[in-house]
Amino acid sequence: MRIALLYPAITMDGFAQNGMRPRTGWIHHGLCYISSSLKKEGFAVSLIDLRQLFGWGELPDIIKKVDPDVVGITIMSLDFDAAAAAAKIVKETDKSIKVIAGGIHATVMGSELMNNTNIDYVFKGEAEITLPKALGGIQTGEIKEKIIIGAQPDLDTIPFVDRTLFSILEAPVSPFLKMPFITATAGRGCRYNCNFCQPAERTLFGPKVRRMSVERFMEELTLTKNRIGLNSLMIHDDCLVEDVNWVERFLSLYSRKGFKKPFVCQARADIIVKNPGLFKDMKKCGLAMLLIGFESGNQRVLNLLRKGTTVEQNYRAAMICKRLGIRIFANFMLGIPSETNREAMDTVKMIKRIKPYMPSPTFYTPTPGSELFEYCMKHGLSLITEHENYKRNPTAPKIKGVDYQFLRKALQEVTTIPYSVKLYRKIDRLKLGRFNKNFMKSYKF
Ligand code: SF4
Repeated sequence: MRIALLYPAITMDGFAQNGMRPRTGWIHHGLCYISSSLKKEGFAVSLIDLRQLFGWGELPDIIKKVDPDVVGITIMSLDFDAAAAAAKIVKETDKSIKVIAGGIHATVMGSELMNNTNIDYVFKGEAEITLPKALGGIQTGEIKEKIIIGAQPDLDTIPFVDRTLFSILEAPVSPFLKMPFITATAGRGCRYNCNFCQPAERTLFGPKVRRMSVERFMEELTLTKNRIGLNSLMIHDDCLVEDVNWVERFLSLYSRKGFKKPFVCQARADIIVKNPGLFKDMKKCGLAMLLIGFESGNQRVLNLLRKGTTVEQNYRAAMICKRLGIRIFANFMLGIPSETNREAMDTVKMIKRIKPYMPSPTFYTPTPGSELFEYCMKHGLSLITEHENYKRNPTAPKIKGVDYQFLRKALQEVTTIPYSVKLYRKIDRLKLGRFNKNFMKSYKF
């Protein structure tokens, strides 16, 4: 049986342009894991990556060429419209093809897909175990229920992520990192309870965080290093550093196995403040940048978000990173429900004081599957009419009652990069030189 996995991520990246198909971009780990599980069971798997198309006009020919029995589409909320358009084209091209929609949006907002006649099945949860078993019944139509619930896999026993599915090089999360840049995931889920995010994570991955053993993670990393090389690494887990024992074991194996290249990961301010020694060890082993969810510089707002951190921890975490020479990628939001302009300015002040290497502002966006999304819907606050507006950018208005004109002005203060950061970045650029450009030129795709 032939399965085409369809990646509809054109909301952020768009279709290919200027006669060039993109050679860089990120791979989708969910699809790559599904691919390896399907291949292990003998299915023929191919990828339709909409980012590689010049427009919708190409899709029917690709579908005819791939000739799949089943198309599986992963959907993030912001890509819903693209996914629905793709499903329609699949059915128009060959209505015998069965279409399955999965991913976070299908899991938390399955009701939006139930009446879509171009989608035969809505897959909720994780697919590695359940999808290969269900495909027979899906193809013949023997499975009558439109909703299929995926069982949770043991991350130590499913096959390694199939990095060959995407024919692109991964683009470094920050330009100072050298290619080949590799993204990896060690676990799924998050034990924290921020209301702008949860319970979506728990709905998709279950109430407990699952993480593969460090040994297995390193085995895959070693294989990848041998196959495509590794000059920098990003561990994608939502909150890798919450598991101090895992991180300590990782550091030990990373060094012992001769890995010296820089890596980046996400962290929370409270964890950094409580474990400065851990971050010192991480820095010694190659930690080059932390992506930190500071979110707000105002305590009432942090409490409202149920972030579980304090403003003081935000400042102290930044100080620790600065002292250790760890670059800061600062995630923060403005325009949170009930936030006043003065409270928003507390965040602006915080970011100006922290002087992150990379400030990453967003206007608060009600994200489907989260508690705060439900609140916004219940109180008629959401201004989002198209799914593509779920992208978390600091440009379009997202909710009622927010003075976006004020916020845009305030944002200018944080997006003006201070001289010290400019200098830091310039030194990084000089060190990198033309390395990535030359690497891209010489790489055989
Ligand atoms: S925002 Fe981050 S820390 Fe909070 S629940 Fe979501 S993934 Fe976890």
